[in-house]
Amino acid sequence: AATQAKSAFLATMSHEIRTPMNAVIGMTGLLLDTPLQPEQRGFAETIRTSGDALLNIINDILDFSKIEAGKMEMEEQPFDLRDCIESALDLIRVRAAEKELELAYQMDNSVPGAILGDVTRLRQIIINLLSNAVKFTDQGEVVLSVSLVNPASRPGVKHEIQFSVRDTGIGIPAERMNRLFQAFSQVDASTTRRYGGTGLGLAVSKRLVELMGGEMGVTSEPGKGSTFRVFLPR
Ligand code: ADP
Repeated sequence: AATQAKSAFLATMSHEIRTPMNAVIGMTGLLLDTPLQPEQRGFAETIRTSGDALLNIINDILDFSKIEAGKMEMEEQPFDLRDCIESALDLIRVRAAEKELELAYQMDNSVPGAILGDVTRLRQIIINLLSNAVKFTDQGEVVLSVSLVNPASRPGVKHEIQFSVRDTGIGIPAERMNRLFQAFSQVDASTTRRYGGTGLGLAVSKRLVELMGGEMGVTSEPGKGSTFRVFLPR
């Protein structure tokens, strides 16, 4: 009964929080399309950026609670993989350009264009990895590659699609790797001060990948960069 009450509460909360947040962000967008004094425009832009940031945090917390409650369900619908990846890249492009980072993308011809799965959740995972890569890189490039591999190590899985996001950023020290995918945990406290963030994004992404029957991993060299990989059975 407690679990059921908790999930019902979560579902209601989720709706109750997102509805006004979407109105705040949506109306600010409309306001920005009207004639405004420069000072007013600055204020409205701050409302929109802060609203977006707040909605992201709320979404992470709600997703995480839903996963913990065992209530996260994945869709099984056909979708266009290229469209999914390109829409994720579109969201990151401005931030990468602001930091003068090169953002590249490469997809092997062997990768099927149409696949079955949860397009919204896959896009969420790719956006999380790309935005971390841009956030923790000051110069160089962020490269997303998609390929089809034959996993030797995974019995029962014939092919898998591999997504890799490589950056030339600050990297992650070996002794901190184990904390990466833990909820509410960041690599170290100074990271929080310098870059902000909740430490929930990767925890949510990794669990989503596992709900899709896949795996997520990372290799990194401090000062040189990191590569996050996602493997999804196909
Ligand atoms: P957030 O970025 O909101 O803190 P995440 O779960 O997405 O939460 O990331 C957790 C931590 O992992 C980050 O705070 C950062 O310390 C580290 N991290 C994630 N991606 C990278 C990356 N590409 N390069 C270096 N460190 C990273």
